[in-house]
Amino acid sequence: MNYHNVKFTAAYGTSKQLPPSTRAEVSFVGRSNVGKSSLMNKLFNRKKLAKVSATPGKTSTINFFEAEWADFVDLPGYGFAQVSKSEKARWREMIEGYYNQDREFCCVVSLIDIRHPATALDVNMIEFLIAAELPFMIVCTKADKLSKNKCAQSIAALRRQLGFSRDEVEIIPISSANGSGIDDLKAALERRIKA
Ligand code: GDP
Repeated sequence: MNYHNVKFTAAYGTSKQLPPSTRAEVSFVGRSNVGKSSLMNKLFNRKKLAKVSATPGKTSTINFFEAEWADFVDLPGYGFAQVSKSEKARWREMIEGYYNQDREFCCVVSLIDIRHPATALDVNMIEFLIAAELPFMIVCTKADKLSKNKCAQSIAALRRQLGFSRDEVEIIPISSANGSGIDDLKAALERRIKA
């Protein structure tokens, strides 16, 4: 599928501002600094379409990008320690508000740093996706930071931590730095969109 000419379409500060969805939506969630913007830029083959951490932890907006065959939705990164209670509430409103709407959810891409176990907030996010019966996959970022062997061990450990059996949930290691796994992710998204 074509990732050329992806355009930024709009940013929303609350889920209530979102227009109804008319196209398949592929959304991206993960803790702040996990590499979400870098991954989206890599997928779209653009340097700065998604903003790479201008201010870490600053709750941003829900950003929509339009590709030919789907909308890509960048949700604000969670889990930055130094944010106020009201910022946390705002984050919650945006993420939960988005997923609680009746939308064309094609796939949620839940991002986890391959170097570390899932954080408590990552686990919460995945439990939320499972409870809401949303279609999702896990993408482990920054795979270039570990050897191939260590990547495989990390993924196995993540499956154990989350209680997933071998093929139950798709887990894809990627690196936005050297491009590894990006084609696997594209193929996985293509299968979801056709399903
Ligand atoms: P976001 O907050 O989730 O959008 O994360 P960013 O995309 O802004 O990335 C956070 C930091 O991690 C930046 O310093 C990136 O350069 C770095 N980063 C992102 N992806 C990768 C990756 O695949 N490999 C490496 N080595 N660093 C990465």
